[in-house]
Amino acid sequence: LIELLGVNKYYGALHVLRDVDLTVGKGEVVVVIGPSGSGKSTLCRTINRLETIQSGTITLEGRPLPQEGRALARLRAEVGMVFQSFNLFAHKTVLQNVSLAQVKVRRRRRDEADRHSRELLDRVGLLAHADKYPAQLSGGQQQRVAIARALAMEPKVMLFDEPTSALDPEMINEVLEVMRQLARDGMTMVVVTHEMGFARASANRVVFMAEGRIIEDRAPEEFFTNPRSERAKDFLSKIL
Ligand code: ATP
Ligand code: MG
Repeated sequence: LIELLGVNKYYGALHVLRDVDLTVGKGEVVVVIGPSGSGKSTLCRTINRLETIQSGTITLEGRPLPQEGRALARLRAEVGMVFQSFNLFAHKTVLQNVSLAQVKVRRRRRDEADRHSRELLDRVGLLAHADKYPAQLSGGQQQRVAIARALAMEPKVMLFDEPTSALDPEMINEVLEVMRQLARDGMTMVVVTHEMGFARASANRVVFMAEGRIIEDRAPEEFFTNPRSERAKDFLSKIL
């Protein structure tokens, strides 16, 4: 579904992605881990073209990512992204947050968008909160709204960049449960996370990055029980 080949990305003189090759098949869940500054967020952001790359190619369903215009707007809808900070519109209700882009980007009728939004809010366990404002919700609930909002665009793939890092421990699981369910439903997902339980249970592959390179790309059981590189061993000893 997604293929990165020989991708290099610089911020000025800083080389943040180095010859990155990565293939994500339809329905696959790929967890990306690695030390701070290794390029995990940058990798996610290149996939929905929030960042440009200096060399290499990225394709979605065999087609190069569009550069601009309506095709780029469509790409952003097809590649859903959920960040650490929830980025909800504070002055709109939960329902409006989920419906807005459906009307603007997908050109759905308002009533149709709202109906679809309610289905999605039900799926993430928040239908009862549809008419509240984000500030009236917990962090875990807000993040589930952000997930529903991304799903409302009917994305082909969902990117998650540390979706639970800003949450209190008791709220992490409710967000992970929504993600586990998405994975079971066959959504293609790229997930940057430190939640190794999620990686073990839901990932098809774990990608370990360091200094802008993919050092390991393997099945979770293999990676966790028998990391090949010293860097990965060292990293795992610090977080497990
Ligand atoms: P973390 O675990 O802390 O989130 P990360 O693996 O996501 O780290 P990135 O955010 O992708 O790492 O950053 C990779 C490198 O690029 C870092 O050295 C970072 O300082 C640098 N960087 C990131 N964004 C920018 C930017 N907009 N301008 C300049 N440098 C940047
Ligand atoms: Mg990051």
